[in-house]
Formats: sequence, C-alpha cells, structure tokens
Amino acid sequence: MSDNQSDQIGAPSADLLAMIERLIAFPTVSRDSNLGLIEWTRDYLQNLGVKPRLIYDKTEKKANLFATLGEGKKPGLILSGHTDVVPVDGQAWDTDPFKATIKDGKIFGRGAADMKSYIATALTLAPRFLDAVTDTPMHLALSYDEEVGCLGVRSLIADLVESGVRPAGCIVGEPTLMQPVIAHKGTHRFRCCVTGREAHSSYTTHGVNAVEYAARIIVYIRQIADRMARSVTPSPLPAFTVPYTTLQTGVVHGGLASNIVPKQCEFLFEARTTPGIFAEALYNEVQEFAATLLPEMRNVEPNAAIDFEWLASAPGLDMRVEDPIVQLAATLARNHSYGAVSYGTEAGLFQAAGIPTVVCGPGSIEEAHRPNEFVSLEQVAQCEAFMLRLLEILPTR
Ligand SMILES: [Zn+2]
Repeated sequence: MSDNQSDQIGAPSADLLAMIERLIAFPTVSRDSNLGLIEWTRDYLQNLGVKPRLIYDKTEKKANLFATLGEGKKPGLILSGHTDVVPVDGQAWDTDPFKATIKDGKIFGRGAADMKSYIATALTLAPRFLDAVTDTPMHLALSYDEEVGCLGVRSLIADLVESGVRPAGCIVGEPTLMQPVIAHKGTHRFRCCVTGREAHSSYTTHGVNAVEYAARIIVYIRQIADRMARSVTPSPLPAFTVPYTTLQTGVVHGGLASNIVPKQCEFLFEARTTPGIFAEALYNEVQEFAATLLPEMRNVEPNAAIDFEWLASAPGLDMRVEDPIVQLAATLARNHSYGAVSYGTEAGLFQAAGIPTVVCGPGSIEEAHRPNEFVSLEQVAQCEAFMLRLLEILPTR
C-alpha cells in the first residue's frame, strides 16, 4: 500500500518550476515541429558537457533526443518522455495553454501533466546525475509524435539497439499519480476494403453488395469481441478498467444511393489487447471468416475481393511486480500498489525491444488532453523526491 501519507513532501524547487514553465512555453503540438524544445534541451545538456544525440524524422521538423549522463560502464537507466502534446483547438481554456500558470496549488498548461513536468524534473536534476559518483549512467529519452501513435520513439529505440546501448530498465513518466504501472493494453488498427459489383437495385441478384458483406464481417468482429468479454480469466495482475481484449469497428464508408447495389465498402476496426492475447490471431480469424464469403461473391463477380491492411500497432506492456525496474520505481515512489492503465504508452515498445519498463509519472491522465490541463504542485514535488531518491540509491563507484 501507499505510504506517501507518512512522508511529508514539500514544494517543488524553484529551478524545477522554472523548467516546467520553460517546457510548457514550447507549443509542441504533435502536428507541428518539436525542434524548439529539442534544440533548447540539446543546448542545455551540451552546456553541462553532455553529448545528446538527435534522431530526426524524414521531414527534419521533428526529432527525438537521447542523452547519456555519466560515464559508468554498467547498464544504465532510461528516464523517458514524449515531448509532443495534444492540440488545444476548440477547447475553452481559462489561461493561455502555452504559458504555465500557477494557481490554487496547481500548474495549468498544455502538457503540465502529459508529460512535461516529468521531463522537466529529469532535466532539472541532470547536473546532479552528472555529479553522482556511480557506475550506473542515466539516459534521457525524449520522443516526438507519441500522441499520434507512438511513432517517434520507434526510431529512438532502433537507434539504441543499433548502437549497442543495453539499458537495465526504463521509467516512462506518463501521468499515473506516481503509481508504478506495470501493464497497458496493445493497440492495433486495421482496414478492410470489400469490392463487389454494382447493379440497379431492382436486380440485386446481378450485383454483389459490398456494404452487406462488410456488415457480415463487422458482425463477426463483434462476435469475437463478445467471446473475449466472456473469456476473462482472473489474473494476479492489477485489473484494467475494461478487463479483457476489446474489438470495435470505428468507421464505415460505402455505397452511393439506396437504389444502387454498392460496389465498394471500406471500414476501419481496432483491437485493444490484454497481455497474452495476440493481435495476429484475431486478425487471422477475421480474415479466415472473410475468406468463407468469397466463393458466393465470386459466383456473381469473379473480381470480387476482400482486402485487409494492418495499419498500425503499438504493443502492450506486461511486466511483473517482481521485476527489478518495477521494484525500483515502487521504492522511489514509496508506493507499492501497482496499476494497469487502459491508455497506450511508449512503454510497450521499450519492453518489446528487451528493455524492462515501468510507467510512473506525476499528474493524472484524467487531467490530460482536456482544457485547463494541470498538474498539482504536490505531484511535481513527489516526482522531484522520486528522482532525488534515485540519486541517493544509485550504487556508488
Ligand atoms: Zn502522454
């Protein structure tokens, strides 16, 4: 259980508040460049004698930053966060979203919770990590385009693997109210295009109705989802809010008029998988069902087709309470109650690359992505204490 109550945490340091204010002032909405923040951070770290590595996207308007603090030879620890934030368009803010405003014990601003306060804490303490007499280096991993499908961090991780850096673990500072989170679902998105044959609707037998065949596949997807909901098994892991794998169809486009047998229908569906459920198996099952529809479609139209495309995937996170990185985060947070979250994070990608990873950061996901996003000063102070404890327990050389 949490023993936070027994430990009075004061206010965050002035240096940390200034750093949070600075990071929030960079309007790093995912659709725009994040280079302002990244280049400022690069210069800040270079002034400390660190040699950060920037990994650009194809447009060179965005970049990840990876930096190693300390020259220890032991496997290091990664503190990881995304630099991008969701847009503020159409949201009613009481303050300027890109100007940190402290009011009523809270810092308001886009990214205050998700997740610039965590990044700011790591950056503020960078000089202390550099001074630490330890064999365990600290790595900072800052990514772009997390909010649009965990895109940027993939090249950062590939670069890590390629350069032979083998960290012992990673702490992703998404807002969890400083609770160690050991599991999140995988997210997988698919497209299906059904091609039939157009006909006058008074001759339905002369056509192949793409909308109706798509509907049969959509219903089948729903049946898989119902089966998943029935097959939930008790787990020693903390439970997800929706404790089973879900599937759903989110978009359908098809047909031109009610008196035309539609030739085309396209739909998008997704699966959110719990640990142990493989998206490949679900995808194959849907495709196998679709294949059973083809013979009757091709009786009428030999070129009838059902095409599938796997659009995107972000793997889930599936750690054990006993894993050393989880125990480390729990010790640092002084919180031994473990969580599972429904939203996706970059943690699953780090784990998939063989880096044990836990999610733990200040603020609440409920306050993220909304107008008047905030993080409480108390949460920021908890995060600062978390990283200061890390400094204390890093094994000395
Ligand atoms: Zn986030």
